[in-house]
Amino acid sequence: MLDVKILTIFPGIFDSFITFGNPAQAIEKHLMGFEAVDLRQFASDRHRTTDDYPYGGGRGMIMKPEPIVKGIRALKAGVDKPRVILTTPQARLFDQSKAEELSQLSSMIIVCGRYEGIDERVRCYVDEEISVGDYVLSGGETAAMVIIDAVSRLVPGVMGSDSHIGGDSFYDGLLEYPQYTRPRVFEGMSVPWVLLEGHHEKIRTWRLKQSLARTFYRRPDLLETKILNEREAEVLGEIRTEMNAGNMEKNHECA
Ligand code: SAM
Repeated sequence: MLDVKILTIFPGIFDSFITFGNPAQAIEKHLMGFEAVDLRQFASDRHRTTDDYPYGGGRGMIMKPEPIVKGIRALKAGVDKPRVILTTPQARLFDQSKAEELSQLSSMIIVCGRYEGIDERVRCYVDEEISVGDYVLSGGETAAMVIIDAVSRLVPGVMGSDSHIGGDSFYDGLLEYPQYTRPRVFEGMSVPWVLLEGHHEKIRTWRLKQSLARTFYRRPDLLETKILNEREAEVLGEIRTEMNAGNMEKNHECA
């Protein structure tokens, strides 16, 4: 069971998020606990102030350290090994292997910033900082949703069968092969014949080649770290040869 707590000034943002998809399933199956906690309850003044002007001048407001640190301490109390995560655009990028790692935890607390960010000293009270991409969001809540969504589908038991995630993009360091459903022909574009024949070995081979080709053309950086097995290396060799012959990635012509 993974217990997730979010420290935010806008807990209501999560109301509908947790009623859909994998987060909802994880909560329903009691495999994930979830609580969005209002940071303002840890502010000590009458107005429940959580932000203040930046020292040294400059634009916007900065989130004060006291309510956040008080909140972190309150959420950590009595919890066994909670991982405290600070959302920030200034950190290592979130990826599938980080999602897998987090899905093994029993407890995580995600701190959401707003305005121009958080007082630097808060960094001394967190275990890790995570960015969801090289862009700036208006708040950490959407970043937290990205993290929870990706993590919740990896919590054992949430997806029903582990085979669902087995072929997903990034699971094995590659992008997933292209997928099709009915109808067989849509506006003149046909489903690749191999998928209709029912020959499982041929389908497996086609999918492996598509997966490798897709990664090779769209995300070659992934292949720099992927350790290929013999079959994968052989198929990648074929793809390279085809590329040199001028055949680029193509499944069907768009109508
Ligand atoms: N001024 C800050 C900077 O340039 O680094 C950005 C502050 S941003 C407007 C407010 C909050 O949104 C941040 O404190 C962080 O919690 C969250 N945030 C923004 N972009 C993010 C990203 N790419 N990944 C994770 N959190 C992000």
